[in-house]
Amino acid sequence: MNDTSFLNWPFFEERHKTMALGLDKWAAQEIAPLGDASEPKNNDQLDAMCADILAKLADGNWLKLAVADGNNTAHDVRSICLARETLAKHAGLADFVFAMQGLGSGAIALFGDDQQKQKYLSDVRTGKSVAAFALSEPDAGSDVAAISTSATKDGDDYILNGEKAFISNGGIADFYCVFARTEQGTGAKGLSAFIVDKNTAGLDDKTRIDLLAPHPLANIKFDNCRIPKSALIGEEGQGFKIAMAVLDIFRPSVGAAALGFAKRAMVETIAHTSNREAFGGVLADLQMTQSTIADMAVSIDASALLIYRAAWQKDSGQARITREAAMAKLFSTESAQQVVDSAVQLHGGSGVVAGAVVEKLYREVRALRIYEGASEVQKLIIAKQLLSGS
Ligand SMILES: Cc1cc2nc3c(=O)[nH]c(=O)nc-3n(C[C@H](O)[C@H](O)[C@H](O)COP(=O)(O)OP(=O)(O)OC[C@H]3O[C@@H](n4cnc5c(N)ncnc54)[C@H](O)[C@@H]3O)c2cc1C
Repeated sequence: MNDTSFLNWPFFEERHKTMALGLDKWAAQEIAPLGDASEPKNNDQLDAMCADILAKLADGNWLKLAVADGNNTAHDVRSICLARETLAKHAGLADFVFAMQGLGSGAIALFGDDQQKQKYLSDVRTGKSVAAFALSEPDAGSDVAAISTSATKDGDDYILNGEKAFISNGGIADFYCVFARTEQGTGAKGLSAFIVDKNTAGLDDKTRIDLLAPHPLANIKFDNCRIPKSALIGEEGQGFKIAMAVLDIFRPSVGAAALGFAKRAMVETIAHTSNREAFGGVLADLQMTQSTIADMAVSIDASALLIYRAAWQKDSGQARITREAAMAKLFSTESAQQVVDSAVQLHGGSGVVAGAVVEKLYREVRALRIYEGASEVQKLIIAKQLLSGS
């Protein structure tokens, strides 16, 4: 981390500063080499890299920041965001592994019963178990209320049928938090959340999808999967509320990951333009370069203010931060895309060479404007809240 002055902002307590500086130092030793390494050539290599990162994060005791312990200790959203920003600066895949443990277990931490918390959370916190969040479907991405995966009561069990699409950690997860329809024709109101173990008969998570910036991703099919009633998280019909509560916590952190990419792009840009000789000086001497750098800096600070405002509000006891989280995610992911694009531009040809840091960042940052609610959906959320007086 170069400029750490933001850690003195009033959003943070001393413990946040200590944690962020400690994680940055640790990540520089343990994680940065992974960011510099060449990318995996196939899913086996990718999965092995994720397992390696998970073990390192567990060993460093960092996963506990993403996964609440379930003993009335809430997620500390500022810590999650600071950790994601820091990890993203060093290696996008490390940010992914960290965030998914939290996103995948969030429904259990927030709404699970004591047995579910005991069974799952400690293993996710210690990296013994990999978690995933399965909401999207082939015909229900932005339109969550269109979910058609069904969970039908059969005695004391539920029978799950349907398909989930674009599920991160798909194929490597030990369990999936699955959102399925328990009541037909009732839109978002008829959804419920379930824990589905990987080895459940009828679950197929082998259809992997390759990404612009690789991380494990798969479509998941449920063919008459029998799951016990004890796998229901919360109550029937609470699924939409549960999913949105989890996203409230993790949406600002998507912005934080984007911020980490943008900050890394800035570091690379300052180094490159300060050394690249042109027109009798260096690129950084040119006023148009300075103008671009200034725009990048303003975007970075504005993003950070929105992210840590949302996180601070949640940590200060505000039950829901739907509007603030949407603003943070929307602005930070859109502006990080622009910052990274400017960094590539200022690197000239060297910025589009495969494997260059800014070239990787350019690919890493793109999906963040789409998942956990595309930018257009965030705008709808913000406007809806304002128009309804929330
Ligand atoms: C890398 C990656 C990881 C993911 N991981 C997960 C995961 O772990 N779990 C999970 O459940 N899902 C995951 N997803 C799915 C993700 O949440 C969806 O892709 C996203 O919600 C958009 O849905 P869609 O792809 O079906 O696009 P669509 O819903 O078809 O939308 C396509 C585009 O249309 C526009 N649009 C949509 N709605 C509106 C609107 N109302 N008004 C104006 N424009 C609109 C947006 O630009 C949007 O990008 C992941 C996706 C990606 C790409």
